[in-house]
Formats: sequence, C-alpha cells, structure tokens
Amino acid sequence: MNKRIFLSPPHLGLEEFSLVTEAFASNWIAPLGPHVDAFEKEVAGYLGLADGVALNSGTSAIHLGLKLLDVNRDDTVFCSSFTFVGSANPILYEGAKPVFIDSEPGNWNMSVSALALALEDSARNNRLPKAIVVASLYGQSADFPSLQEVASRYEVPIIEDAAESLGATFHGKKSGSFGQLSILSFNGNKIITTSGGGMLLGNDAKLLEKARFWSTQARDPAPHYQHSEVGYNYRLSNVLAAIGRGQMRILDQRVIQRRGVYERYAQAFSDIEGFEGMPEASGAVSSRWLSVFTIDPSKLSIMPIQLIEKLALHNIEARLIWKPLHLQPLFKNVPYYRHEGADSFCDKLFEYGLCLPSGSALTMEEQDLVIEVVRENLLASCQRGVRHGRPITSEPLSQNV
Ligand SMILES: *Cc1c(COP(=O)(O)O)cnc(C)c1O
Repeated sequence: MNKRIFLSPPHLGLEEFSLVTEAFASNWIAPLGPHVDAFEKEVAGYLGLADGVALNSGTSAIHLGLKLLDVNRDDTVFCSSFTFVGSANPILYEGAKPVFIDSEPGNWNMSVSALALALEDSARNNRLPKAIVVASLYGQSADFPSLQEVASRYEVPIIEDAAESLGATFHGKKSGSFGQLSILSFNGNKIITTSGGGMLLGNDAKLLEKARFWSTQARDPAPHYQHSEVGYNYRLSNVLAAIGRGQMRILDQRVIQRRGVYERYAQAFSDIEGFEGMPEASGAVSSRWLSVFTIDPSKLSIMPIQLIEKLALHNIEARLIWKPLHLQPLFKNVPYYRHEGADSFCDKLFEYGLCLPSGSALTMEEQDLVIEVVRENLLASCQRGVRHGRPITSEPLSQNV
C-alpha cells in the first residue's frame, strides 16, 4: 500500500528549523520574545497593515476582534453560514446572537444580496448587528468591495476571516487586508502553519494594543500583578512565532504549489462532464488552499461520500466540504438569509462538494494516483447512468470564471 496521502499536511521550509534553534539558543522559550514582535511586523507588512497581534489561534483572534468591536451579550453578529465553526463560536463566547448569511455562486463566499436583505431587515427592526464576520473559503477572497459598500450604508464593521485565504488577492489587493479587522490562522492544515496559532490585524494600532493587553491576562501597568478587566491567555509563544517567520518567507511559493495541484486536477478532469472545480471569480487569484470540486447529480451518479470512500481504499484522505452553520445542531433556530430564491446555495455545495488532497508537498506520483482513482470512479458512474435528476444550480457553477 502507498504511503498515506493527506488532505493538507504541514509543509516546512529550510529556515524554520534555524529560526527555532535561534529561539532555543537565546533562551527565549518563555511565551513572549523577539520572534513574536518580528512575526507580527512581517505579517502586517506583507498585508500592508499597521499592526497585528500574534495569538494562539484564529478563533482567539475572532474572539478578541468581536470584543474590540464592542460585541456584548444579546448583541447581533452576522456571519457567513458556509464556513468552519471557528468563525462563529466566539460569537457565542460573548453571549451574542448570530445571524447566518448564505454564499453566492460566483465565489462561494458571503452573498452580497443576502447581506443587503439581512441588513435591511435588521435596520427596520432596530437590531443592526455590531459586526459582520465574513469568511474567505478554500483560498478565495470574498467580494469585500461589494460587501463593504452594503455594510457601510449601515456603518457596520466587517471582520475578515482570512484563515483559509492568506496568499490570495482580489483585484490585486491581498486577502486579509480588507476588513476593519482581519484574522489569520496558522493551524497545522492551513497554507502556512506555526502548528497552532493565529493573528488579529488591522490599521488601528491603538485599538489592537487593547487586544494585545487582553491576550496576556489584562495586566494593568503596575509593579505587582493587578487586573481590572477580564483577560485571556491567548498569546502566541516565541518558539511558534519563529516557525511562522520561516513560513512567511515561503508563502508565495506555497501559493504557486497549491495552485499547481489544483490546475493539474482541473486539467485531468476537464473531459468529465459534471465534475467542476470551485470557480475563481473575475478579478480573484485564489491560493487554492484546498482543491474543491462539485459533482453535478444530473450528470454523474456518484455522491461525494462514495468518492471519498473509494479514495480511502487507496489510503488517500479526501473530505466533504464545510457543513453550513445554519444546519448545525449547535445553531438550530438561528436566523438565516438565503441567496435569492427558495433554495439555499451553500446547502447544495455541502451536498455535492468534496476536497481532494491539496498539500503543497504532494508529489506528481501522488497527484497521479488521486487523479486515477477519481477518474476511474467518475467514469464508472457515467456508465451506470444518472439516478438523481436534480441539477446543482440553475446555471453552471463556472459561470463567473
Ligand atoms: C481554521 C479556521 C478558523 C479557526 O482557526 P484556528 O486557528 O483553527 O482557531 C476560522 N475560520 C476559518 C474559515 C478557518 O478555516
């Protein structure tokens, strides 16, 4: 049996080890240290932002971002429905009430028209949200200029969840540089990693200083330990920041490698009708963090979970795409705004989408094996004929490519 092919394993470069060794040699094993400061400057510099606060996860970054925007008990926060639960859990930490927004077909991220409708309703009911958490999924930026145009009519700030999209651009501007505040994740499966970590970024350095204060147990400036506010133990350690600095140096290369994997799959499946890659919106350059494809059930008679099981027989890890948050038991009865019409768009993505192995270190042989197994099963499914008659969307998914 071949070596296991993982979905998105960490991929370290040559410099991380020497930077970590340096952290050991200088005895900066204690949480704070020079690598943390340098990592913050380097990431903020890459995104062209004033400042960043290095934290122990992307989820902590969203939590402190919501606190900076004064989200309190019973406040409303809008959030993408089609995302990982880490985008929305912090809303619950603060006792606030989420409202979920559907995705749009062109980029799979928050629907501009659904957001407009939700804001209109909430303005009418005098319950405008304190913040909107917008996720950019699988390496592709949401349409922030349009979302911001709508949100700014009501003066509601956006937290940009760029946990999955570092390295991508939209009309030349870097993903992670759009929101009033933005967050990144350096979890082990993301495009670059510190094994675990995150960052909260923005252009208001004074505001971010407050997040830094909260992230280190909210210690008042005093010679003794004094606290007048609730604090958190959310800071990134110096050793992990050293890894992050090494990873930042190879980020652009990782984007090229991930895009290469996606292109190779897309080419190899281009003759199979009904198996489409995630569209790349006009003006967008996706990092293709994960290579995602959808099955059109009117053309192919195999479901994503069946294809995943077939790949598993070859020791290949593939996954279903995010289950929308409005369908999660945790969020039952949470209000949800669909993208136009009667059908929820992200429900269909969930039903018919899957992620193929996408690591930047995947060898050509490994990609070939994935391609072979996928092709074999899709072609067999064509021959069996179509059992489900429903098309995935009224228009083809690739309409905006
Ligand atoms: C990974 C991820 C997060 C959370 O990041 P962690 O570092 O794992 O806490 C948040 N949002 C999205 C969209 C993610 O993919």
